[in-house]
Amino acid sequence: MRIKTEGLIIREQPVGESDRLVSVLTRDNGVVKAFARRAKKVSDNKNAATTLLSYSKFDLYMGENKNVIERATPVMVFLGLGKDIVKLSMAQYFCDLARLIIPEQMESEEIFRLMLNSLYLLSETERDPFLIKPVFELRLMCLTGYEPDLHECIGCGKKTSEIMYFLTDEAQIICSECYEGNDKTAIPVSEGVLKAMRHIEYSDFEKIFSFSLAGDRLGKLNSLTERYIISILGFVPNTLKFLKSVI
Ligand SMILES: [Zn+2]
Repeated sequence: MRIKTEGLIIREQPVGESDRLVSVLTRDNGVVKAFARRAKKVSDNKNAATTLLSYSKFDLYMGENKNVIERATPVMVFLGLGKDIVKLSMAQYFCDLARLIIPEQMESEEIFRLMLNSLYLLSETERDPFLIKPVFELRLMCLTGYEPDLHECIGCGKKTSEIMYFLTDEAQIICSECYEGNDKTAIPVSEGVLKAMRHIEYSDFEKIFSFSLAGDRLGKLNSLTERYIISILGFVPNTLKFLKSVI
């Protein structure tokens, strides 16, 4: 079967002398693994269009045992990423997360839009990268079946409290009165940070990036979404370790 699609290269691995095996996050076919023959040859038109972080159009042959990229044409190059090591490392971490979290065969145009919008903001605008990262992290979790319940305290139903605790293993919140203090995975969350998390999780897609948070509270939000992801994965991705080494 032959299909036409567009997508973002989220992983590339060299195969032999000049071929490449890539993972593509497509708009309408989920994550697809495919071979790009002769893709490493500079003269081949697939070269630029099949490198990590390329957003391209593809003609794909979907075979029984393997898929092959027959044609690839770049749609957009995120030029701003190459100029800034923090932005580039963050973009690589986003690709890694997509690869690790999105189940095979899962089709979601919203995941694709989340990735593209996050990369666009990261590459082409001056927006603080650490305002983009927690949105990508938390919203990706929600779209792949790991949506935490942030509505109310699981003990008493209270919606707000000066300090709530986020239970990473249960993916729920509990207020300070109901929390007995013996759960090691509980992370204290201030009202401002909880408000930002609720915004990311429950807003319409068009509004997810429209919030502001700064300083210590922004740092707390980042550390919280990271810890939630690590608790789901069970390990710290190397790309996240690298990102933290360059900030
Ligand atoms: Zn409570």
